[in-house]
Amino acid sequence: MPRLTHPSHQRTCGWNDWLAERKPHPPLRGEAVADVVVIGAGYTGISAAMTWQRERPQDRIKILEADVVGEGSPGRNSGFMLEVALANDARPEELARMAKLNALSRQTMATLRERVERQGIDCQLRHSGTYRAARSDVGRRSLRQYRNFLEAAGLSYQPLDGEQLEARIGTRYYQEGLYSPDCYLVQPAALITGLADSLDEAIELHERTPATGIVADGKDWRITTPEGEVRATRVILANNAFSRALGADRARLTAIYTYAAVTPPLASPHRERIAAETWGLLPAHRLGCTLRTTSDGRLMIRSRYSYEREADNARIEAKLRASLEARYPELAPLHFDKMWGGTTGFTHNGAPLWGEIQPGLYVSAGCNGGGIVKGTYLGDALARHAMGLPVEDIASLFGTASWMPPDPVRRLGFYLTSEIERRKAQSET
Ligand SMILES: Cc1cc2nc3c(=O)[nH]c(=O)nc-3n(C[C@H](O)[C@H](O)[C@H](O)COP(=O)(O)OP(=O)(O)OC[C@H]3O[C@@H](n4cnc5c(N)ncnc54)[C@H](O)[C@@H]3O)c2cc1C
Repeated sequence: MPRLTHPSHQRTCGWNDWLAERKPHPPLRGEAVADVVVIGAGYTGISAAMTWQRERPQDRIKILEADVVGEGSPGRNSGFMLEVALANDARPEELARMAKLNALSRQTMATLRERVERQGIDCQLRHSGTYRAARSDVGRRSLRQYRNFLEAAGLSYQPLDGEQLEARIGTRYYQEGLYSPDCYLVQPAALITGLADSLDEAIELHERTPATGIVADGKDWRITTPEGEVRATRVILANNAFSRALGADRARLTAIYTYAAVTPPLASPHRERIAAETWGLLPAHRLGCTLRTTSDGRLMIRSRYSYEREADNARIEAKLRASLEARYPELAPLHFDKMWGGTTGFTHNGAPLWGEIQPGLYVSAGCNGGGIVKGTYLGDALARHAMGLPVEDIASLFGTASWMPPDPVRRLGFYLTSEIERRKAQSET
């Protein structure tokens, strides 16, 4: 199967469709030269470019973005901005490391919040906290593990039984859950376009400009795009799983797609019962559903995965509908206003692929499904690393992405593991 250089999606991104129309930055045309080129205008890439510009304001900085900002992967997510590391599988011996990660996440979240306020980015950023909930025995075991982590890490939370959850989120589907205050919710397409549109004018952003090839040319790198070419001594690959087509290690990174669907604004009396407030729920089990409401009273579900390619959206939409109707039977027959797929970079052990891969060529990839805050931090750290500035020890904090067997073993492993896990935790999906 040919490896794609950048993502393309079957359907448009709902979050972006709901924004006012904006004029994209022009594509790269002809030949250009820069001091640093950042590939990908996601959270990682924008953060890297901003740090570079702050430290070296005289440098020529270019960002190449394959899509229109807001329409690509960073606009397609569910908008959970976690102030603490995702720790479904944290072991007690990892607590010291997790405590450092939590402190970094809080700091990065505070920076993002400050940026949103300073630039007046209208992205419905709310400190709503997050619920976690489980229905099955397997899900409840994962929930218990997460509760143990929160307690050991000294993080506050409120345990909730099924009835208490129902009073908060309008469904009696879950047996038990908890509420943790350490999370913000955001309109992700509004956030990423707001960040891109408020970049310093010294940073040149080119939208609809996929990097399709990269070659070393003396001390420079030459990057080709459909209508042009740019040379630079430093290149930062911030395009997640698609960095593999430009030199990142294929044996440690894979593309996993996941899917979201959103109802129209709910009508009374469901609106008052389910979506009177903006709330979000993350699954206790890793294959479970994410749920959230929006500021205009919609209900969103995110679930299901596919390996390396977007699955047929109509087929997935039917599954998402069944999952949401199981939780909110009073909404059946359910109609979605929008449904879409998005891509994430996945590594076997959850650690990022990060650092210099060849002289002057750097990568930060492998968000593992949670990268708004983490990507912002890792992008900033990668830019500092590429400029020779001090950086925290990323490998000891985040780990190092581990090796995965190539296809067809990898593909088979993905389908087998997800099928077994899905059967065990059927009612969580
Ligand atoms: C449905 C869904 C729900 C999610 N929910 C959450 C959530 O609630 N919270 C959270 O933190 N994370 C969530 N994620 C994951 C989150 O979207 C990612 O972790 C985050 O966007 C990673 O940021 P990034 O900048 O590292 O990479 P990306 O967001 O993947 O950005 C990479 C950018 O590079 C561009 N690109 C790719 N190839 C090329 C190329 N060759 N040339 C130029 N540009 C290129 C892409 O178009 C994209 O804009 C979710 C993901 C999905 C799909």
